[in-house]
Amino acid sequence: MFILVSEVGPRDGLQSVHRTMATDRKLAWIAALAAAGCREIEVGSFVHPKLLPQMADAEAVVRGALAIPGLTVMALAPNLKGVERAIAAGAHKITMPVSASESHSLANIRMTTEEAIAEVGRACALRDASATRPGIEAGISTAFGCTIEGRVDEDRVIRIAVALAGQGADSVGLSDGVGYANPAQVKRLFTRLHAELGDKAGGAHLHNTRGQGLANVVAALDVGVITFDASQGGIGGCPYSPGATGNIVTEDLVWMLEAMGLDTGIDLDGMARARAILAASLPGEPLYGHLPDVGAGKGFSYATRGPAMETAGKAAA
Ligand code: ZN
Repeated sequence: MFILVSEVGPRDGLQSVHRTMATDRKLAWIAALAAAGCREIEVGSFVHPKLLPQMADAEAVVRGALAIPGLTVMALAPNLKGVERAIAAGAHKITMPVSASESHSLANIRMTTEEAIAEVGRACALRDASATRPGIEAGISTAFGCTIEGRVDEDRVIRIAVALAGQGADSVGLSDGVGYANPAQVKRLFTRLHAELGDKAGGAHLHNTRGQGLANVVAALDVGVITFDASQGGIGGCPYSPGATGNIVTEDLVWMLEAMGLDTGIDLDGMARARAILAASLPGEPLYGHLPDVGAGKGFSYATRGPAMETAGKAAA
């Protein structure tokens, strides 16, 4: 069985690092990740360059990444303007964040949740009118809790997911950017997401802020989730929580999935080569993960390799 590990380091990771990685270094890292077997990489964000100067070269990075054979090039766009830029640059897939928490939505993208849902609808109309017709994935952030509001109502999360699918999103995933999720909650919400959205139910974006990242992955696997975001070295900690670790670590995730007999198509030696490029490009930046320190271990073997699924974000049957 194939599990899609969607590498988000070049976007989620680099946007929270204060230094800006040069475009050619980003492309060298992305090429190394693809050579290691990463089939989908979120390479940048089409946010206003004044807000995130680290992402100002998104067009160039998307165009450069498009030259890598077999790679699905994904980019984040927070609004319609960003979607226009992402389509013009030729991104294969665009992810749009929609916050389940009203306060977080206003703080993050200066739109209410309702306005953000309508913006996804306008983005889908733009997609339908485009020649390239990129996939549009909506990611519901703060789906498991919010640093401003605390608890987020689960019925509300599911209502938002249904509304986003109704607006034409190709898939709707659930995101825990602050590391509030626990495995029981992950099972509940993804079970309901699959029941309501069928094959439009998307993947899981989990953070390891409280050490629950991989436990939450296993919970999600148990209820049929087959796409997981992760970042190399776990970069992407919240800029407002100093010392907070970020996304689940790609290397640790790949080791766990492969050891469980789940094919990711990713090679850990190749990931080590990519990590060396990342470390050399951001000297002094903390990189996380257990596997890179200790290696795969005696007796480790990869899952049986099969054909990779063409599409991401599909719910398992
Ligand atoms: Zn993240």
